[in-house]
Amino acid sequence: MKQNYTGGCQCGKVRYEAALDLSGPVIACNCSRCGRLGSLLAFAPAGDFKLVAGENDLTDYQFNKHVIHHLFCATCGIESFARGKRPSDGADVVAVNVRCLDGVEADALQVKKVDGRRF
Ligand SMILES: [Zn+2]
Repeated sequence: MKQNYTGGCQCGKVRYEAALDLSGPVIACNCSRCGRLGSLLAFAPAGDFKLVAGENDLTDYQFNKHVIHHLFCATCGIESFARGKRPSDGADVVAVNVRCLDGVEADALQVKKVDGRRF
């Protein structure tokens, strides 16, 4: 079931609201970026995500096929979310780093490991 969450970067310049279903597993990816960051990801349609503050504080980083916008705070460096397109239908989706959500105990969530190491 979807619930509303708030979250953002460490310094507070980037803030967002997102409706997410965290009853199922979140994604731990071992690619060259996620593996280094230790991100835990939950995905939402773009319409379920609202950037409340920090649009101009974000730096966009892309690698590999350049299909995902890795947006990190230019001040504190935290990547609290990323924007991309769902491979199956090209719909806009947001990958929220659940470690950046307020009041969510990331270690209490179920985790599904995804092998993205080839990226
Ligand atoms: Zn920040």
